[in-house]
Amino acid sequence: MATFPGAKSRDSRLPFWLGLLARSGLGIQGRFLLLVAAVITAIVLAFSWFFVHRERAIIETELFKRARSLASNLAFNSTLGVLTRDTSGLSELASGIARSEDDIVYAMIVDKDGTILGHSLSARVDQVIEIPDDVTGFVSDADMQSQKEESQEYLVHFIMPVERVKQDISREELLLPGDETSNLSGPYTQGKEGEIEEIGKAVVGVSLLGIQSMMAQLKLIVAILAAIIGSASIFAVYGMARAVAIPIKRLVAATEKVAAGDLSHMVEAKGRDEVAELAHSFNHMILDLRKYHEEVEDYSRTLEEKVSERTIDLEEANKSLKETQAQLIQASKMAAMGQFGAGVAHELNQPLAGISGYTDLLLLKLQEETPEWRYAKKVEDQCVRMTKIISNLRTFARQSKFEYAETDINQPIDDALMLLGEQLRSHSIKVKRDLASNLPKVLADANQLEQVFLNLFSNAKDAIDPRGSGVITITSRQSPQADFIEVLVSDSGTGMDTATINDIFNPFFTTKDVGKGTGLGLSISLGIIEDHGGQIEVHSVKDKGTLFRVSLPVLNAPRCWELVNCLEVCGVEKEDCSAYKNQKGHTCWQEMAKRHRRKGDPHPPHCKECKVFKRKVLAPLEECWNPDEVAVV
Ligand code: ADP
Repeated sequence: MATFPGAKSRDSRLPFWLGLLARSGLGIQGRFLLLVAAVITAIVLAFSWFFVHRERAIIETELFKRARSLASNLAFNSTLGVLTRDTSGLSELASGIARSEDDIVYAMIVDKDGTILGHSLSARVDQVIEIPDDVTGFVSDADMQSQKEESQEYLVHFIMPVERVKQDISREELLLPGDETSNLSGPYTQGKEGEIEEIGKAVVGVSLLGIQSMMAQLKLIVAILAAIIGSASIFAVYGMARAVAIPIKRLVAATEKVAAGDLSHMVEAKGRDEVAELAHSFNHMILDLRKYHEEVEDYSRTLEEKVSERTIDLEEANKSLKETQAQLIQASKMAAMGQFGAGVAHELNQPLAGISGYTDLLLLKLQEETPEWRYAKKVEDQCVRMTKIISNLRTFARQSKFEYAETDINQPIDDALMLLGEQLRSHSIKVKRDLASNLPKVLADANQLEQVFLNLFSNAKDAIDPRGSGVITITSRQSPQADFIEVLVSDSGTGMDTATINDIFNPFFTTKDVGKGTGLGLSISLGIIEDHGGQIEVHSVKDKGTLFRVSLPVLNAPRCWELVNCLEVCGVEKEDCSAYKNQKGHTCWQEMAKRHRRKGDPHPPHCKECKVFKRKVLAPLEECWNPDEVAVV
């Protein structure tokens, strides 16, 4: 691990002994146990030492107090004996003192010169006592002299002065009656009245053996107690350390699993202590991690979806570009055709006007209802028809931009029929025209719609041709919800197989002979209808015929942005929606349908729930048409 210059390592900041523990390689439990065991041992030892020494001091003080008191008593009671040198009386006195306490080894009285006048040694013949050498010297009341014997016995000698108060008293007065022989020397009778004089010493020897054995027993008891307390404490601490260490070990194991990517693991968190709190926090952390993990996964999934959506959009744009190119080619062809048609129409217009004028003159000159008048009338009718055709041709050839206007759908249908009528008749094709009157208007460019219907009728004619004769049925009507106009164009032609049906809207797809078909009619028609916010659908039965349905929204059909939240339904803001921008009668679902059909999906998945989409309830194509019925019309 890298350390910054001047930075102290963590261990070096610890006290030496804690640093030593940290470097010992022991776990938390071991370190804690060792530390607590050391502290407990130190406390118990200190306490035991203090206790034993204090006990000894108390016992010794008590013993010494008694011994001193006995020595004082002995000294006090020996005054007369020392004055009279009553050795037997003094010995008896000393023996009595020595017997009064077990710890008193001996007692004796010496005179001023150190001569033993009485002692108790005969009463303790089992003990060898050496009288201190310095008993002749004066030792104050509080002083003690201890002497270690070879037998390891400790003796303490208490020496008290035997005193008398000087009195002017004669030797005879001191002597007891009949005791003339007493050795009562002069100095004892002389001196200043009231002065205290030391005339000897009383010595009491106290053994410390009893105290020592008592202390040994006490030490043993204290040691046993210390061992019991120490072990109990260590066991208790061990239990505590385990109680802390086990959950921590569990947490460590769980952390390792989390680090390895396993977020399913949770730790048990019982109780309300700090360890349980830690476990709770850990579990919270796992839950948070899981949440973030899922969010990240979701995000990456969404990202993938977005990328694939964008890819599809790009493909679609590419396709759309190709289609536009194809349409441009067609447009240029149509422009050339238009110019040519317009030129021809213009050229024909002049002679036709002449023919029409002269026919009118002829009709005026001829008598009505004569065969000649009827012939002239027919010529005039055909001239009117030709004028109309030429007018249509010129309108069609104008190649204008889309000019949307309120349009009656039957108008472009009739115009297209007018253009193709003669051809149909000459090919023995009957037309069943079933156009509903008073249909709601659509917002449309009539020229463009006329081109669509021309393509449909022309294809129907080509499909019927190989069969010799047939019927084209043209129906216009309102959808059940009255928000769409449907135009159904069916024929009793050759029909198509499924493979052909799948390709007919592709530009340049044609099954017709070279020179007869370009494969552009239906793709251009689809583009026009979708630009009008409508749809073209097809249903065909091989060898029976084909049905095309063109559906266009009526003028006042509600736009989806008026009913639904564009962003929610289609994923685009209203302002970004091409249908909204163009306002050409599109609704969102139609816009989406257009995109999705290009991807091969007939319905936009996002708009299936769209209220507007649901409103478009058109009957299935199969129900709109019975090819067998059409065939017999
Ligand atoms: P073109 O008419 O120049 O071939 P279209 O795009 O109009 O181009 O038509 C494409 C193809 O669709 C036709 O070649 C034909 O095979 C098929 N088709 C179109 N309408 C019909 C129909 N009513 N009956 C049978 N086939 C049809």
